[in-house]
Amino acid sequence: MDTSRKPPWLRAKLPSGDGYTAVNKMLGEQDLHTVCRSAQCPNLGECWSRGTATLMILGNICTRSCNFCAIQTGRPTEIDLGEPARVAEAVARMNLRHCVLTSVARDELTDGGASVWAATVRAVRYRNPHTAIEVLVPDFKGRMNDVDTVLDARPDIFNHNVETVERLQKPVRVQARYDRSRSVLRHAKGRGFTVKTGIMLGLGEKIEEVEQTLRDLAGDGIDILTIGQYLQPSPKHLPVDRWVTPEEFNHWKHFGLGIGLGVVESAPLVRSSYHADEQSLKYTGAGHLNSENRLASA
Ligand code: SF4
Repeated sequence: MDTSRKPPWLRAKLPSGDGYTAVNKMLGEQDLHTVCRSAQCPNLGECWSRGTATLMILGNICTRSCNFCAIQTGRPTEIDLGEPARVAEAVARMNLRHCVLTSVARDELTDGGASVWAATVRAVRYRNPHTAIEVLVPDFKGRMNDVDTVLDARPDIFNHNVETVERLQKPVRVQARYDRSRSVLRHAKGRGFTVKTGIMLGLGEKIEEVEQTLRDLAGDGIDILTIGQYLQPSPKHLPVDRWVTPEEFNHWKHFGLGIGLGVVESAPLVRSSYHADEQSLKYTGAGHLNSENRLASA
């Protein structure tokens, strides 16, 4: 397939408008990173215009080198002890009913950053008692005591991405493993949490492999699944194997729901945190973004 030109369904809104400007300014003031910018998310224009962003904690340099991800790899920065309070303030200033937090992988830390995760969830909860908190975490190398540290802070949604089908784990996310990610998800599910994961299509997976992955995830008790198109962030990253049509994404949505997944968001531009407030409504009861966004009207 010729993948040199993006199909029309992947054209995203360009960043502009008061909402975008307000989010951008606030993030600068709070000195915070977002996965939206660090991972070159195509939805940045739309999400920031809505007054929402996914905050990324523990710095913006990752100890892993996944071949799909635009986040910088290298020696991470020191732990920023003021970050949890600034994240909590940013969530308050965006006036979010549902916030998504994520982080880089910090494999050099003995707890993988789990204690900072827990401190951040608690700080956000304290400052924003009515906001649903979704955590999109790394695998903590499968150390369940570190996963428990995060879970003990009581996030509303526990999200960890398996990213792709089993066969493609190594080329796509070299330091991760399909079975390890699934066991992290099952662990959270076993503790009674709402669990969420996501995969990308267009990395070379076969149809029967996607089917098997969805069956695996349904068997693990996953509540929410996101499926979106892989986009190559730079020529150094894995090439796009194919453009998956909106019709095929729709097929996977119905397939997933039919085998027992609770919510399946499947469309070309779907990302883990894209419209996460709406995906999770069934589980969190949290409302949509407050239409009178404080930032946008500030
Ligand atoms: S989809 Fe998620 S990562 Fe992308 S811009 Fe929206 S909030 Fe940010």
